[in-house]
Formats: sequence, C-alpha cells, structure tokens
Amino acid sequence: MRAWLWLAVFATLLVSAPPPADGGDGASSPIVVGSEVDFPPYAIVDANGRASGFSVELLEAVAESMGLSLDVRPGPWPEVLTAFKEGRLDLLPLVALSPQRAGMAAFTAPHTIAYDSFFVRRGAGDIHSLEKAKGKAVIVMADDAAHERLVASGVPLTLVETRTIPEAMRLLASGRHDAVLVPKLLGHLVLRDLKLESLIEAGPPLSEYQRRFAFTVQPGNFDLRDRLDQGIAIVRATGRYDELYDKWFGNIEPRPTLTWYGTFWGLAAVGAATGGLVLLSLGWSLSLRRQVVKRTASLAAEVAARRTAESSLSLITFRYADLVSRVPVGVYIVSFQATGEMKFEYVSPRFCQLLGVNGDAVRADASIAFSLAHPDDRDGLIRDNATARDTLAPFRWEGRFIVRGEPRFFRIESDPTPLARGGSRWNGVVSDVTERKQAEARIMATNRQLNAVNDELKQFVYAASHDLRAPLRTVTNYLGLITRKLGPDIDDEMREFVGFAMGGAKRMDAMIVGLLEYSRTGRSGAPFAPVALGAVVQESLDNLQTAIHEAEAEVTIAPDLPTVQGDYTELVRLFQNLIGNAVKYRVAGRPPEVSVSWRGTDAEWVVWVKDNGIGIDPAYSDRVFEIFRRLVSAGEYEGSGIGLAVCRKVVEHHGGRIWVESVPGEGSTFLTTFPKAAPVPEPVQLGA
Ligand code: ADP
Repeated sequence: MRAWLWLAVFATLLVSAPPPADGGDGASSPIVVGSEVDFPPYAIVDANGRASGFSVELLEAVAESMGLSLDVRPGPWPEVLTAFKEGRLDLLPLVALSPQRAGMAAFTAPHTIAYDSFFVRRGAGDIHSLEKAKGKAVIVMADDAAHERLVASGVPLTLVETRTIPEAMRLLASGRHDAVLVPKLLGHLVLRDLKLESLIEAGPPLSEYQRRFAFTVQPGNFDLRDRLDQGIAIVRATGRYDELYDKWFGNIEPRPTLTWYGTFWGLAAVGAATGGLVLLSLGWSLSLRRQVVKRTASLAAEVAARRTAESSLSLITFRYADLVSRVPVGVYIVSFQATGEMKFEYVSPRFCQLLGVNGDAVRADASIAFSLAHPDDRDGLIRDNATARDTLAPFRWEGRFIVRGEPRFFRIESDPTPLARGGSRWNGVVSDVTERKQAEARIMATNRQLNAVNDELKQFVYAASHDLRAPLRTVTNYLGLITRKLGPDIDDEMREFVGFAMGGAKRMDAMIVGLLEYSRTGRSGAPFAPVALGAVVQESLDNLQTAIHEAEAEVTIAPDLPTVQGDYTELVRLFQNLIGNAVKYRVAGRPPEVSVSWRGTDAEWVVWVKDNGIGIDPAYSDRVFEIFRRLVSAGEYEGSGIGLAVCRKVVEHHGGRIWVESVPGEGSTFLTTFPKAAPVPEPVQLGA
C-alpha cells in the first residue's frame, strides 16, 4: 500500500512538477499566516495558544510538501482580515471565495466546501433560504462570507455583527435577535461546545450559495499561490488530506467522496483481493506483481491528473465568475426553444444589479425582464427581440428600463448561436448608457440653442449690412450732388472736405461688404470636393492682375501644387487675400517679389505665400488675424482689416491652421495647412 502511495506522489509530481525553489516567498523567510481563533473545526486555538484546526493543519501539510516555512499567528477574524488587507500577513488559510473578495487577494483552488445554515431559538420556525430571512435580525461574524452574502443579496433585514461565532450564538441564546447565519458544521460544533440546547438549525443548508474555502495570498503573489495549489494537489494525492479531514470532521460529518476516488480504491481493493486469490491458488508470480504495480501506477497517475484538472477547473470557474463580476456590464445567456419560448440560462450579479431584477425570478420567468422596460420602449423591445430570435441577426437595442422607480437608459448587445436541436442560444451584455444619453441630449439642446443664436446673428448681420449700406449710398449720392452743384466755383478746402467725407463713406461701405463676406464664409454648405490648388492660385492671380501689374510685382508659383479636399470658391478667396496683401504691403521703391510654395508631411500639406514687403512685428503675428485689426494707417495702405480674418475662417473650415512668420522690414510668410485625409467640414460659427 505504501509503495502505491509513493507512486501516487511520484505520478503527481510528474503531472505537475513544482518549479525549483528560487529563494522566493517560501524558500527563505517564513510565510506569515493569520488564522482565526474561533471557527471550529476549521480554525481554532489549542491549549497552548497555538493556531490549529483543519485549515491550519492542511496548510502545514501543504507547506511541508512544498518546502515552505510558516509563521502562523492566531487572531479574531476582523483583525486578521484587516492585517491581511494592510499587507502585514502573507497568507490566510481559510477564506471563502466570493466576487467581493476577488480583488483583495489571489486565491488557490478551493480546498474545502462548507454549507451555511441559519440557527434559531427552538420553536422560532424554519429559515432555509435568504428570502425567508426577510425582515429578521440576523447575527453574523463581521466581514465573514455570510455577512458579505447577506449584504449582496439585497434581502431587507437587520444585520447584527459580532467578532466571533460563539459570541453570535450566545447572543442569540440570550433571547436577542432572530437568527445566526454560519457554516452548518461550525454552528453545530459551537452549540455542542457551548451546550446551548435552546438553539437549533433552522432547516436544511441554504441552496443559494456554498462556501468554497481556499488559501489566500496577497494580490499578485502568483508564485506562492501556484506553489500552494501544487501542494494541495500533493496532499490530496498522498492521502494526507483525507487523514486530516477524518481527524477534524470524521466524527461529525463523513468526508465527501468523489466517484472516481471510490473507483480508484475500489479497483485497488479488487486488485488486492484478486492478487490474494491468485497467490492462494497459483502462487505469487513475478509477472502478475509487475502487472498489478503497473496498473496501480497508471491509476494513481489518472487520479493525480484528474485532481489537478479538478483544481484547475474550479480555479477557472472562480476566475471567470470574478471577471464577470468586475466588468461594469451585465452578462446574460438566453436560450430560445424551437417553439420560440425564451429562458434566461444565466444572469450575472451585475445584470441583476443594473436592471434591479432578482436573478432567480428572471431565470424562472423571462417575461419579468420585459415588464421592467419603460412602457414607451417595451413594445419595441419585445418586437426587436422577436425579430432577432426569428432572423438570428445580432440583437442591438437601446432603450429605457425602470430601475428602482427611475427610468435609466441601457444598451443591449447579444449574438446568437443556433442550436442543433432547434432554437438558439444568445450571449449578451447589458450596459447602462444613461450618462451618455444625458450628455447627448445636453449637446443636442446646446446645439439647437447655438444654431438658433447663430441664425439670429446671421439675420442680424445681413439686415444690418443691407440697412447700413442704404443710408451710406444716400450720403455718397448727396456728396456727389453737392460737388456737382458747386461746380467749378468749389474752393480747394471745400473739395478736400468733400473728399474726406466720400473716402470715409467708401471705407465704411468696404467694411460692411467685408463683414458680409466674413459672415458668409464657411456657410455655403457645399460638400467638399478635390480642389487643385494650382488652379486656385491661377484664378487668384487673374483676379489680381491689375494690382500685380501696377506694382510691377514678380510672382513665382511652385510647380505641382497639391490637390486638397475643399471648397473652390473659399480657397480662391484665401489665396487672393494672401497674394493681394503680399503685393499691397510692399516697401516703397522695392518691387514686390512674391512666391507660392508647398511641402507635404505625413498628415498634411503645408502651402505658403512669401513676400519681401514691410513685414509684421512678431508681437502682432496672432492679432493680425482678428477682424478689423490693421497695423497700418488708412492713409498708407488701403484696406478694411477683414481679409486675414476671412483667411483664418477658410483654413479652419478646411480643418487646417494658418500663421505668419516675419522679419519686419524684410518680408512675411503666411503658412497654411490642409489635412491629407478628407476633412469633415468644420461648422463655422458666426464670430468664431
Ligand atoms: P487689410 O489688408 O484690409 O488691412 P487684412 O486682414 O488682410 O486687412 O490684414 C490685416 C493687417 O495685417 C493689415 O492691415 C496689415 O497691417 C497686416 N498685413 C497683412 N498682410 C501683410 C503682409 N503681407 N505684409 C505685411 N503686413 C501685412
């Protein structure tokens, strides 16, 4: 028998050999462990004040198998938990896996399972489900899994916290509160030890949950966790686990046996019995012995492999549940029968929390989910759901559900898998998009307001411009009449005054026209199309022919100007303004030299107009693009101060930038950029 056991150990090691000790956590310094004082038989303190109990001895066996040294320190659970959370402890031997705890630690595969029951005073009645505890005052050990489970369940009840389970039982026995929720086994042991005969278990253990106890290490300490997992597999394979289980639970509860486990020992026993018979009748033969040993070895290897697989599976299951509980969306699986009947196969806790539904209820009756939809959106949901079911097209739906009395917006996305037996299964996610919807509604409202204000301003500018130009025309007309009336008798002073008045009126008219042009820029609404800048620049030069000729300017255009996505008319306006200014702002006596050039970068075209004119003080290089901003006097250079403001609007409408680089007295370069990828026309706001 002993040889078989060693073979089992050996086989386990082969299946999952531990990594060589690397001086990590366990190899050198002892691992600091915190264990509960009063959680029999899982965790207790012995007569010498040392931590003991099933979980502690199991951990010791695991540590021994993996060559890890331990420093186990007992303490009340709330303090142990706090010390662990603060990083003062490396390991806890007995932590029930729960989604709430998943973030605080790394868990090994579960090593023990326990089932919780309510305990009540005799005659108090049955509580065999969380729902039945509704309205009751339930005593729990603070931060215990039962505590967390009751909080998460959302069942309305009063929670009374104690530091230990015996304290909870004594409190209940004293006639206060209604029930205690603890692992069934532990509850019975405590009642027996404290001789509290007035308390009894209030019905069978709960079916809603079970505690899967695991060893727990600090988050991210995967090396230690993996070593412990390996150790658990070894102590199971060597039978040490069973010994410990029998020692601590044997006289109270039989060890849960697994079928394959029974098969193994059953086969072993049959093998032994068969061997005995053969010995009796034929004598012990060497070849038979070899066969038995070989068969046993392969069985042991199978056992070890299955145990490792089982550990991995529960670990994967736990980690999957942990992941699902962490994502901010609800996850569900729905199936449709061939008859069309719909059933929720699975709903994640977050699904229930988001939609405010009870998981059990919605699994039992799918129509509950529809009944929670907002009355205005419900028919659409039912219709779209049925269409998706019939067409097997991906289901995408946005609408409102009433959650705890408040309407909230949700997005549901789910995709089908047709089933061989007919019908389909759908994996879906539900996300709360209320905030996004509210933000969209706010943006739409703001846009509506902006558009209204913009339209009003546009109308105002048009009206004001037209209305202002009419009296201006009257002024210039009458000034002309006055000049004509005075005829040749007009004196020089009078001629000068009338000239000033006419000049002022004309400038004002030019400004009004410019303002109109500025307000119109970017509002044509014409879709962008490919525009060859070579053609644009050529048309600008044609329009500026007279000015260029008069100034005797030399204009050079670089070949192969790029083609950009844009509005042809606006782009002509842009280059006409830039080239016109380059010719206009010349130094007296220096013939203007103007060039238009370009270069490409990865993302954009850069096109510039360079001159040898008067230049711009760099302190004003931003301000020249403001409307009506002029750096020269009207007497020196004609202009209205609108051209560059229009240029900036045109460039921004095309998704680009404009700026000037200049050396005063030597010349200026106005640079513009155009994105290579087709820009979406920027909405231009009036006054932008
Ligand atoms: P306008 O030419 O009608 O005055 P712009 O908006 O086109 O209006 O130009 C604004 C101001 O920027 C001009 O008044 C001038 O002072 C300065 N400016 C524009 N282009 C040039 C240039 N090429 N060289 C020097 N100064 C310039």
